[in-house]
Amino acid sequence: MAEGTWQLKLPVPFPLRFVSVYLVEGDEGWTLIDAGYDYPSARAAWEAGAAVAGCDLGRDVKRIAVTHFHPDHLGAARWLGERTGAPVCMTEREIPFARWLWGASNSQPFEEYLIRHGMPRGMAEEATGVVRYALPLPDEMVPLRPGEKLPLGENSARIIHVPGHADNQIVLHDEARGILFAADHLLLGITPNIGLWPESEPYPLSRYLESLESMRGLGAGLILPGHGPVFHDLDGRIEELISHHEERLETMRRAISDRPKTPYEVSRLVFRGALTTHQRCFALAETLAHLDHLVLEGRGEYTGDETVVFEAT
Ligand SMILES: [Zn+2]
Repeated sequence: MAEGTWQLKLPVPFPLRFVSVYLVEGDEGWTLIDAGYDYPSARAAWEAGAAVAGCDLGRDVKRIAVTHFHPDHLGAARWLGERTGAPVCMTEREIPFARWLWGASNSQPFEEYLIRHGMPRGMAEEATGVVRYALPLPDEMVPLRPGEKLPLGENSARIIHVPGHADNQIVLHDEARGILFAADHLLLGITPNIGLWPESEPYPLSRYLESLESMRGLGAGLILPGHGPVFHDLDGRIEELISHHEERLETMRRAISDRPKTPYEVSRLVFRGALTTHQRCFALAETLAHLDHLVLEGRGEYTGDETVVFEAT
């Protein structure tokens, strides 16, 4: 790792097992990047990890920067903000979005969305219960603006908007040290989930591929992601992720070439094996993002009023 920068692997209560958060030491105090999922094991890991890094959570933290609204990144922000007394910062568009998504009761449209795309009703009901719930957020959050710089350690980091995995996700680029805090935009070993959800802006895969392309040659030799191992070859990983999605698009196109299928049927063909209902939900959203992209590219079309089906063209 780089001097003054610590990675802390916090447990999460689902198959991903860990989320990586970062602590960066600076003259004016520490910056924490992402908060983790809020449950007792993660709070205990924060306490133990910060102590090892030499950061007194009650006294030394200057700010908490959250990269995107997912519960494994934002979930513990309220607790961590109260524990440290530090402001929680997130992009200006993500703040109202997260308040809407995690505040109101959104379960009914979500369940209907899953059913309309072919998920059996019983599974859709169960999935809604495990994916949509009320999440208490900090009472106040400080808006970050993409393009601006965030003080970070001895330097600062440029805030870069990278839609795809989440519409308003940001990464932080410490240009002076050549470090990219990559959140869930670039992962090694696994690929970030690119899903079309009822609240997503259109064509997330297209926007993901564009934001990947825009990072080529960024000038970062150390990539610190939200999950999995740290890595060094940014351009190489961008290349792999782009070809992974091209292969997956082709697999999906083949899956709908013999007859029209619902996105759920396609997801069962592409994501085989025993998945939890939670994972089935993400597999469906990922499938839908790819099928939607095929339509955008003129390689597929969709029909359906009550139930949506896709067919290759
Ligand atoms: Zn995420």
